[in-house]
Amino acid sequence: LDPDTFAVDSSAVVDFLAGYYRDVDKYPVPAADLEPGRLRKLLPDAAPEFGEPTERILDDVRHDVLPGLTHWQNPNFFAYFPMNASAAGFAGEMLSVGLNVVPFVWVASPAAAELEAVVVDWMARLVGLPDRFVFSGGGGGVLQGSTCEATHATFQKGARLVGIPPANFRVIPTTAASGYALTGGAVRAAVEDDVARGLVPLYLCATVGTTGVGAVDPVRELGEVACRHGMWLHVDAAYAGSAAICPEYQGYLDGAELADSVSMNPHKWFLTNMDCCCLWVASPAALTAALSTDPEYLKNVGDAAAAAAIDYKDWQISLSRRFRAMKLWFVLRRYGAAGMRAYIRRHVAMAEWFERAVNADERFEVVAQRRFSLVCFRLRRDDDMVNRELLAAVNASGRAFMTHFVVESKFVIRLAVGGAMTEMRHVRDAWELVQRTAEQLLLQRR
Ligand code: PLP
Repeated sequence: LDPDTFAVDSSAVVDFLAGYYRDVDKYPVPAADLEPGRLRKLLPDAAPEFGEPTERILDDVRHDVLPGLTHWQNPNFFAYFPMNASAAGFAGEMLSVGLNVVPFVWVASPAAAELEAVVVDWMARLVGLPDRFVFSGGGGGVLQGSTCEATHATFQKGARLVGIPPANFRVIPTTAASGYALTGGAVRAAVEDDVARGLVPLYLCATVGTTGVGAVDPVRELGEVACRHGMWLHVDAAYAGSAAICPEYQGYLDGAELADSVSMNPHKWFLTNMDCCCLWVASPAALTAALSTDPEYLKNVGDAAAAAAIDYKDWQISLSRRFRAMKLWFVLRRYGAAGMRAYIRRHVAMAEWFERAVNADERFEVVAQRRFSLVCFRLRRDDDMVNRELLAAVNASGRAFMTHFVVESKFVIRLAVGGAMTEMRHVRDAWELVQRTAEQLLLQRR
């Protein structure tokens, strides 16, 4: 690595990205060119024999790759959940990949492991987790790449991986009456039913901010069921966990002291570029007993203090790991808790505006109660087709990108506010686009 070449090449990439971000709202949000195999036709069959200049590679990124991307950082991106990027997120990520250290055991990069422990404690305090999830309270946290990595492909796959037959994985239906959240009663009945059949209940997942509609499971009630039956309770707050830095949302984590583990994704709605998931456990020993390996070549030697040091390889499946703490630390330092709270509240206010607009138009309905920055809505029609066509036409315009969910057999459109560059005007434009597109569709159907 030649430092001078590094400086020139990196500046070219930073300039390229700054240009991209200046124009990001001009790109069609979902990929404009969806023809499968397009890129293979454009690119040579084999890798180049000799190295090429950075400018030429960036030209190809501009001409060949960008047109085939879905522009997640476009402020008109309202699909799935947001995947935030920010100047501080970039700066932290650059430092992390630039330093390129691997904190799998403490001695392999002591400050990286220690920064991780500090930063997960900071986050635990910010979202109001009980003391049992911070290191001084006997628990602790780790940064992983995603919730799926932390809980194993959102735990249905995890169950399969550890050999639990699919029939023994219970998906408990929810209804409008509970806002599409689990209820203590339904979970208790399902668990008791399983016990009566001779099964041993193992694991219960409470979701704070479900992917489909942003519903919030009652953590305390589920915790009581889990405790009664000796189940591991995990609280998945992948998206909505970021909102819990605002005191007005911390009530949704009430009962977290009954949980064994909690996770949330700063890479979704916390201005932290991919990838970053906080996983906290009340009993690190439970995690390390399952995941620890201790080959001689990885032992922390020489230093007595190292005995108390954290070997993060024992908190995850893989061995090598990224220096994610630098990125999250940078974001927290650069924007501060107050800045982050303002950021979250700004998005929630935009979603509230959209919800009010939907409610004020009698042709539409909001389908599940909005709690954070996700609004689920649909045209009040018996046939789903018109809502499917509405979503397809909105997305085909390239001017916004939304996704869908199915609630009690009804097709609903999801608008998730949370892009780092999204402003009120983008949300207003999105609503006008929805209204105009719906008008055209309804006219055609007369
Ligand atoms: N859990 C919930 C509630 C989610 O909404 C999501 C993604 O949207 C996930 C888990 C998966 O997160 P990740 O992509 O970090 O694995």
